[in-house]
Amino acid sequence: MKIRDDILSYREMCDTENVQTLQRGMNFHLNNSYSVILMSQRSNAPYSDRVHEDGITIEYEGHDVIKKAYNHNPKYEDQPDLLSSGKLTQNGLFIKAVEKYKKEGKNPEIVKVYEKILPGVWSLKGFFELIDYKVVFDNGRNVFRFILRLSKSQKYERSLTKEEILHTRLIPTEVKKEVWKRDNGKCVLCSEKRNLHFDHDLPFSKGGTSLSVKNVRLLCIKHNLEKSAKIQ
Ligand SMILES: [Zn+2]
Repeated sequence: MKIRDDILSYREMCDTENVQTLQRGMNFHLNNSYSVILMSQRSNAPYSDRVHEDGITIEYEGHDVIKKAYNHNPKYEDQPDLLSSGKLTQNGLFIKAVEKYKKEGKNPEIVKVYEKILPGVWSLKGFFELIDYKVVFDNGRNVFRFILRLSKSQKYERSLTKEEILHTRLIPTEVKKEVWKRDNGKCVLCSEKRNLHFDHDLPFSKGGTSLSVKNVRLLCIKHNLEKSAKIQ
């Protein structure tokens, strides 16, 4: 069984994607099968990314122009889809993929989404389809908002039911942050620091809710698997 909400260190995330570093938020077609985006819903995040109430749709803000000098503020400029050379930016590449999907009936671009929980702590949110984008006038400038929907493809979300996916995704970032701090970044049963997951004390099927710090805890993959085996 594939468990969602895997927690990874920055290094593990890069190793998983087979790259030295992941410095950009948007990485179009990082490999042959998918793109990678890094999102953050933390209050001090530079971009406003969010998960819709449905729990399966992500709205992801495009990237700003590159900072040109210490006194240059990219937040005063429209987000770019083209470089001055005429080459597409990451925004431009994502837009082009949306247009191919909507106008030419091509398959949507598959996007793997990681969310920053704390500095150096990332959570894998899963595979999404890039289905739309919009241009929004925000604080005196134009920004892009990309719309991603959780992929239904079994190829990516193996044996998980839709219900399970929905529920793990609804653990709010603030709750994850609190849980991580309370459990000191370790499995509460064996203190393992690698391959951790956010676990619900009460399974949803038995009426559990993910909304409180009290019923979410950190478990390593071994203890998480043992628990799911017992429930089934
Ligand atoms: Zn453990």
